[in-house]
Amino acid sequence: MINRAFIKLALLCALSICMITARRLEPVVYDIEQTEFAQQLQHAIKMRDDLSATTNKQQPPQASTPCSSPSSRWLKSIIADVSEEDLTTFFDNHLHVLPFVYKLHVAPRQYDQEYFGLDGEYTQEITSVHNQAQEFWSDSGVRDEIYLLSAHGSDLADRHDKLVPTLELLFRNTYDSDYTVYDHAADIQELITRLPGGYNFPLLTFNAFATDEMDDEEDDSSIIIGDGYFQFQQALGMDSEGPEYAHAHEFSHHLQFLLGVSDTQSGIAQVAKKSELLADAFSAYFLAHDQGGNMVSDEISNVHSVAFSLGDCVKSSAGHHGTPIQRRCATVWGAELADDREDMDKIDLFEFQNRFDTWFETVDDLSDSCQHLHSAAASRSYRILSFQVMTLLIGGFSVLL
Ligand SMILES: [Zn+2]
Repeated sequence: MINRAFIKLALLCALSICMITARRLEPVVYDIEQTEFAQQLQHAIKMRDDLSATTNKQQPPQASTPCSSPSSRWLKSIIADVSEEDLTTFFDNHLHVLPFVYKLHVAPRQYDQEYFGLDGEYTQEITSVHNQAQEFWSDSGVRDEIYLLSAHGSDLADRHDKLVPTLELLFRNTYDSDYTVYDHAADIQELITRLPGGYNFPLLTFNAFATDEMDDEEDDSSIIIGDGYFQFQQALGMDSEGPEYAHAHEFSHHLQFLLGVSDTQSGIAQVAKKSELLADAFSAYFLAHDQGGNMVSDEISNVHSVAFSLGDCVKSSAGHHGTPIQRRCATVWGAELADDREDMDKIDLFEFQNRFDTWFETVDDLSDSCQHLHSAAASRSYRILSFQVMTLLIGGFSVLL
């Protein structure tokens, strides 16, 4: 297998090559590494490592931290039966990226054949909410045609037509007669067969993100969701509203492309706590609005739970998306705005953003019930925000898992 250092070198090489032949490739790979669920992956692996270290030393488990992420706990359970060597090889070879790179840059565009979920069980739901969102936000200036894409681990089972071209795109300069792309593909497929669930192993596709139209005219604006996300929601018993929430959240990133909130490189939304919580708020606003998703209170309550499940506790990371409580509270705030009688007409995007900015100032001071813990929250939050900005700048250096 190609080791991590080799891959980093390969990506750097790809950067210079992409100036000529594949301009979008290398930055896109880095961006995918940082999209929606990278923080949970880091957290889950760290939790496993911490537990392993504690067990080896025969020490009692440490007390639980105040922040607890359902998605990180689930991921930890997913990787529990994978050997450390296989897990290292998995990430060193970017297996969690391959199905997305295949779909975005190798697969022929056949939008009418896309299906969501391992067996297409969420296709109708995703398609329906997509049509609602395009209609609801049509006056906002968002693109008329945002396309739906799905990522499936099973695509990697097709060695000749899918896996090999994807690897060639990513690692083109790393192969030689001693180790060909076919050797690499064989090694990867052998590893996948050892993973729980094989090609349906959720980590292969545990991600979702929005892509904006890129320089290349062949690239469309899209929303891409991997099977792993649906498997996660199903495991937690939240797959009634979970799929709609994921779509609405990604669609909200397209609104942010309009607002200029979500800084982009090569068309993929960068992650940052504020823009993620704004996307959560937009999502809940749309799903609760009677002209949008028109969800009833029980359904919106489930949306709050889904948002909570996706929070992460990697607060010091540049890619931190918000804690579980903060993500739930962002959807509570957005849904309440939709319920506000004075705002029955759709709110202007910039007005929405201004109101959100005010709410966000005290986001680090929210209780479980989304109330402020301290009366002095506002003054304190400015110091916290300043720290976050610094963290964002410094944290940009740590990219790979
Ligand atoms: Zn997001």
